[in-house]
Amino acid sequence: MGFRVLLRMAALVGLCAPALSALAQEAPAQASPPCARPDALGVSRVLEVNPKGGLKVGLKSYPQTLALEPGEVVLTFDDGPLPATTGPILKALDDECVKATFFLIGRNAEAHPAFVARERARGHTVAHHTYSHPFITMRGLGEAEAKADIEQGFAADDRAAFGQAGPAPRTPFFRYPGFADTPELNAWFARRDVAIFGADLWASDWLDMSPQKTLELLLGRLDQAGKGIVLLHDTRPQTAKMLPDLLRALKARGYRIVHMVPAKDDAPTPLAKAGPGWTSEAEASIAKVWPKILAEKRRLAKAAHAPGG
Ligand SMILES: [Zn+2]
Repeated sequence: MGFRVLLRMAALVGLCAPALSALAQEAPAQASPPCARPDALGVSRVLEVNPKGGLKVGLKSYPQTLALEPGEVVLTFDDGPLPATTGPILKALDDECVKATFFLIGRNAEAHPAFVARERARGHTVAHHTYSHPFITMRGLGEAEAKADIEQGFAADDRAAFGQAGPAPRTPFFRYPGFADTPELNAWFARRDVAIFGADLWASDWLDMSPQKTLELLLGRLDQAGKGIVLLHDTRPQTAKMLPDLLRALKARGYRIVHMVPAKDDAPTPLAKAGPGWTSEAEASIAKVWPKILAEKRRLAKAAHAPGG
C-alpha cells in the first residue's frame, strides 16, 4: 500500500521514472475498448485471486473453489493457442465483451505468439499449462523434469504475451495437464506463490462431439450446478463453433461472467468449501488412464535405452 502511494506521489512530481516504467510494464493490458453493444453478455465483475502461499481451487480436483454467486461463471480455455480455433474464439469473446482465462501450452505460445499477444491486448488473463503437455502428465514425469517443463512453459508464455520472461510467471496461475498434480509440485507452487486451478465443470470437449451436442452437454451441466469455473479447450473445432451460441445462451439464461485476475494486494480470495460427500472426479478419471500412462512411460524408457536411441 505505502509503496503504491509513494509511486503515485512520485508520478505527480515526475520522479522515479525507471520504477514507474517498470510498473507500467508489469501492469496487465486492460486497455480493451468499452463494450460497443449494450445487450452483450459482458463481464459482471472482476475477481482478484490471491496466489500467495499457494491456492488450489476447482471442485473436480479439490474440496474448495472460488466463492461465486449463483449464476456466476468463469470461462477458462486450455491448450492454445491454435490459430484455426483460437482466432474464432477470441472473436466470439470480443463480440460479447467477455473476458476469459487462457491456460497456454508454452510450445503453442512459442509457435503462435501473435495470438497470445492478442489475448493479452484484449484484456484476457494469460495463464500457464506447462510447455509440452506430455501425454504422461506431470505426474508421469520425474519431479525435476516436470519442474523444468513448467518453467519452460512460464517463460514461453510470458515471452509471447509480454515480450520477455522474468524469474517468476507474470500471471501466477497454473493448471496441470489432465489435472494430474503431485504433492511435491503443489508444495513447490505454494512456495512460489502460484495458484493452481482445477475446474468446477467440464465441457468434456476433448471428446469428439458435434458443436450442438457440446453446447447442450455444457448448458445441462451448468444449469444443474448453477455456477462455476468452466473448462473448455480453445484448440477444439466444436468449441470454437459453439461458443457464440453458448455466450448467447448464457445471457438468455441470466448467467453472469466473472473474470479472474491476479490480486494486487494481500486480501484473501473468497473461497467456498465442497459439500458433504465430496470426492475428486479428476482422480477417478486419472485412475482410469493411469495404466496407459505407465505403459507409455515404459515405452519411452525402453526407447531411450535402445542402442542409438
Ligand atoms: Zn490440457
